[in-house]
Amino acid sequence: MRSLTNYSKLCVHTQTNKPWTIEECITQYAAAGVSAISIWRHLLEGKDLSEIKELLIKNQMEVVALVRGGFFPSVDDKQRALVLEDNRLAMEQATALGAPQVVLVCGADPNQSLKVSRQQIKEGIIALLPQAEQLGVKLSIEPLHPMYAGDKSAISSLGQANDLCEEIDSPWVGVAIDVYHLWWDDQLEKEIYRCGKSDNIFAFHVCDWRVPTIDFLTDRGLMGEGCIPVKQIREWVEKAGFDGYNEVEVFSERLWAQDQKLYLEHIKKAYLNHS
Ligand code: ZN
Repeated sequence: MRSLTNYSKLCVHTQTNKPWTIEECITQYAAAGVSAISIWRHLLEGKDLSEIKELLIKNQMEVVALVRGGFFPSVDDKQRALVLEDNRLAMEQATALGAPQVVLVCGADPNQSLKVSRQQIKEGIIALLPQAEQLGVKLSIEPLHPMYAGDKSAISSLGQANDLCEEIDSPWVGVAIDVYHLWWDDQLEKEIYRCGKSDNIFAFHVCDWRVPTIDFLTDRGLMGEGCIPVKQIREWVEKAGFDGYNEVEVFSERLWAQDQKLYLEHIKKAYLNHS
């Protein structure tokens, strides 16, 4: 398998360096030779987006994605309407920052069946299409590991995400492939090629699955620390036609407790050696 030899395709998610502010993420990534960032929305609360945009430009930092919209399903009609408004706001924020896509964590409501939740996800995404087209912002469905099917995502596999994309059939809707969520699936290679055929791979997220994992939200590993064949999956994604960024997205209490500047250097090493 071909190794990565430089950082030209490296993107880091701000949540990977959770202790940092948005300003620190932008300036520290730039100082470390990282030229792309995916921005988590909570870091934007109370911020002037034009100032953030200026800082991004000053540091020649490309924004790969705004994370995250979604959470469409609910038994409560009012809640579903509120969530659509929030997704519209996310698309406006993406436009303000120059982010080409909003990543969707699609959601699930434990008080109804997954089938109903999936239907509501589909209706929610369709309702956002006119604005997506108008603003030129793509919507990326990110399937989450089935352990999150209770309340975070009724879309658990790439096959389900591909089905949904094909049903919606819009150039503004595609998928974010995250190795943490999808590595276990024996249909993964096949579904990656299916997705690539329709140019629907919008994003690729990397990290690793530690064994044992002590927390299913905040114990992800750096690439090379676990059992995910990251290089292999990257090779499939590239073979399917994807030539975008490899986004490092690690949620880890263990790694957040470290010196973040040193940790960023570890991220860069792990990126070249194990992804
Ligand atoms: Zn992800």
